[in-house]
Amino acid sequence: MKKFFPSIYQKTIHDVDYAQLKKKNVTCLIFDLDNTIALIDEKKVNKKTEELFQKLEKEFTIVIISNNTRKRVEPYAKELRCDFVSMAWKPFGHGFRKIKKKYHLKKEEMAMIGDQLMTDIFVGNRFTAHSILVEPLGKKDLKVTTFNRFLEKILFRYFEKKNWMKRGVYYEEKEIL
Ligand SMILES: [Mg+2]
Repeated sequence: MKKFFPSIYQKTIHDVDYAQLKKKNVTCLIFDLDNTIALIDEKKVNKKTEELFQKLEKEFTIVIISNNTRKRVEPYAKELRCDFVSMAWKPFGHGFRKIKKKYHLKKEEMAMIGDQLMTDIFVGNRFTAHSILVEPLGKKDLKVTTFNRFLEKILFRYFEKKNWMKRGVYYEEKEIL
């Protein structure tokens, strides 16, 4: 179960303490797209996100990793001027291996930010040192996500019972022993 536990939990990508990550030697931020950066039917990047990425690109390598198609991901990455991996098949790791190799990264230098325990956090825990969960931006999900959300609910219940975390109670770096 620990494999699904996020090391950091914040409401949105705007609430993450990136300076703290920098201090912990993170050089590469890997973002999920749908419901993390944008709503699933949102076509244009919003101003706030654009500004955040402009700030972050000075300090970090930024890559968007998504299970969605190139057609969906590429325009977003272009607008945000960052690299991307589409059709990544998270929770499988090939997208992460690709990023690691391309930018000569160590696991400790990478952080994954996403809205799903079953995909983003699970794969984040395997391939990066920091798995950051944010709340999904919208209630609407891609069809493929519906089943994952069901499993996710069970995980959240388990985490709560263990006193590891509570939905909506955000935290900075936390390790489960
Ligand atoms: Mg997502």
